[in-house]
Formats: sequence, structure tokens, C-alpha cells
Amino acid sequence: MGFTTQLLHSDRRYGVEHGNLLKPIHPGVTYGYEDAHDLARVFQGKQKGYTYGRQINPTVEALEQKITQMENGRATVAFSTGMAAIGTTLFALLRSGDHVIASKYLFGNTASLFESFGVQGIALTFVDATDADAVAAAVQPNTKLVFVETIANPRTQVSDLVGIGAVCKTLGLIYVVDNTLTTPYLFQPKSVGASLVINSLTKYIGGHGNALGGSVTEMGQFDWTTFANIYDGYRVGEPSLWGINQIKKKGLRDFGASLAADSAHRLSTGADTLALRMARACDNASALAEFFQSHDLIDAVYYPGLKDHPQHQRTRELFGRPGAILSIELQPELDCFRFLNQLQTVIKATHLGDVRTLSIPVAHSIFYEIGPERRADMGIKDNLIRFSVGIEEIDDLLEDFEQALSSVR
Ligand SMILES: *Cc1c(COP(=O)(O)O)cnc(C)c1O
Repeated sequence: MGFTTQLLHSDRRYGVEHGNLLKPIHPGVTYGYEDAHDLARVFQGKQKGYTYGRQINPTVEALEQKITQMENGRATVAFSTGMAAIGTTLFALLRSGDHVIASKYLFGNTASLFESFGVQGIALTFVDATDADAVAAAVQPNTKLVFVETIANPRTQVSDLVGIGAVCKTLGLIYVVDNTLTTPYLFQPKSVGASLVINSLTKYIGGHGNALGGSVTEMGQFDWTTFANIYDGYRVGEPSLWGINQIKKKGLRDFGASLAADSAHRLSTGADTLALRMARACDNASALAEFFQSHDLIDAVYYPGLKDHPQHQRTRELFGRPGAILSIELQPELDCFRFLNQLQTVIKATHLGDVRTLSIPVAHSIFYEIGPERRADMGIKDNLIRFSVGIEEIDDLLEDFEQALSSVR
């Protein structure tokens, strides 16, 4: 079945309730049993069933099934946000004394999270993930995990996903890929050997800016029997699920960043149209990138769909389409705030993956806190503006940008 057909029929295939085509929203927190033996058996994992809303909920489970299908994985755990998915995964799998390698172009909040783990005793090396050799060179005897994103935000560097997969496979490292910017519609990290895949459901998968959520999906490609940090209690059952079980039990249960049923429902209905929205947003972004590139007031355009992007060829081979995040630098004498304030249709807001086109002056907002040195290292200039391109009609977007640019000339 095709990508969208599978999504549309997912809830139905995994158990219809009251004939409803959508999984109903179950806000209930606890579950009653006629026979206390059954309750005990569910707790002991000997019988399938529901216990308490922090660990399990039917509406959330239906969304987890959908994500597992989209990623062609083995099992998914959903969380209240993308950050909770990343934080809980690392918390559940790593211990003090371990070492992690991460891309130096990471989403700012994820980089900040890694630094927090750093002060808790987990060593960290940031590397240029566009080059697998940089990852290989950073490996230490205590390295446990490599964390990369597909396309970086805001400068759109594309990780050497195939090369890093090979390094992780050879050395037996857990390979975590954050697929948020590409989504499983453009790219399935399973194909490059990923062990675990992260998605911020808040972004493209939900798509409408009306619910937060995150997920981690097990790909079934990592040999968890070789991983020393799995507790004895979780070395039971199918070994390919030991890691995700520990993330769910030690991670989600201990930390409790659970996804609400109402949010799961919104994210799930949003996901049904992911392919249509993503295709349209990529078309719009490609058209805008060309328009910006030929405009004399714009010094630089960063978009993997452009032929002069350093990872253009890699993008075509891995993703087919170049995504819908693009950044520009205005000529240095132009005021990026004046330009942004002239935009009428394009909204000035943080967030990405929304149906609406959003714009943000990166150095002055999401990358303000990290300071000028780190920004310079990441290639973020003061006049860099990031766009998350939405699904409006392209003529309306072009017209808006054209009028805003001519008014700052
Ligand atoms: C937004 C984002 C996250 C965090 O997701 P939230 O749902 O906002 O917590 C993680 N990774 C990437 C690449 C993101 O863009």
C-alpha cells in the first residue's frame, strides 16, 4: 500500500471502536479489571492490557502504530514533545562515563540538552556531521551513541547519513537520526542503518501548529544484546525490542513526559495529509529559493535543492526532494528587521513545519542565547533569516516577498 493509503486506514486496521474510522480520544487515566489476577498479569507483562495513563493509552497507541508504519520500524514510543522524546531516549540509554558524538549543526534546543547531559557526566563531542570521517575520528573507547539530524536548521547542512551509518555499524554504536526536517515521507532513516529514529510530531507530521508531540521509533537493526546499559530486567523477550522497552519503562515511566490523548488525536489526523502538505511545501520552497537566488538584494540562499548547495547531490539521492526549510542572507547594509516587518502574508514566528509560511531572524531569536562565537562556528550571520515554507499558493508568497524586498531597497 502507498504511504497515504496506509496512513488513512491505519486506525481501522488496528481495531475499530464503535465503527468509528478514527481512533476515539480516550482521556481516562486508569483501567478497571473484574479479576485482580488479570490486573496482576498485565503488570507482570504476562497479559496484554492497560494499566495507567502515564505509560499507555489507546489513542496514543494508535498514533504510535501509525508512526511505526511510516518509518517502517518495529515499535514507537510517543512523548509530550520532541524534546521529551530526545531527552528521555538519552536518559534511558546512557550512563555517566559514556561518550556521545553529535552533529555540531544540531537544532539549538537539542544541543543545549546535550550540554546538560554533559554536566551530568556524559561526555560529548560535536563534529561536522556532513563528513563521516569527522565522526569516525571522534570515536573513543567509551563512545555509545551517535546523534545526527537529516537536514540542519537553519543552514540546511545535510549529514553524511550513509557514511555515518557505516561507521556506527562497524563499531557497534547506536545510531540515532532525528528525521523531523525530512519526515518519513521524504526519507526513512532505516535505509542508512539507523538504530532509532526521532520525530518532532509538532512539526510536519502534525502540521497545523495545534499540538505538541514527539516520538522515538526502533528500527530493529541494532544488536541490543551487545549493549551493556540494558538492565537485567529488560533483557527478556525479543532482543531487538530491549532498547525501546527500556526507553518506555525506565524512560517514559520514570520521567512521565507522556503524550495526551487529545494531542495524539490531533497529530494523527494531521499526519493523514503529510504527503500532500510536504510535496506542496517542497514545491513552494524550490520556487522561492530560485526567486531569492536571482534577487540582487540577497547575498546568499541556503537550500539543498539549489545546485550550488554543498550537499545537493546527496539530497537528491537520499531524499528525492529538498525539504521546505530555507534561509537567506540579505545584503549587509539592509536591515533584516525592516524587511521582515514589510511581510504581510508571511508570518514572523518561530516554529517550523506549519501549513503557514513562517520567518525568523535567527541570530536575534532562536540562536541568540548561544552567543556570537558559537553562531560564527555554525555559520549563522546576524542577517540570516530562516523560512519554514508552508502550503499557500506560490504566487501569493512570491508577491509578498517581492513587495517586501522592493520596499527596503
Ligand atoms: C522542533 C524540533 C525538535 C523538538 O521538538 P518539540 O516538539 O518542539 O519539542 C527536535 N528536533 C528538531 C530537528 C526540531 O526541529
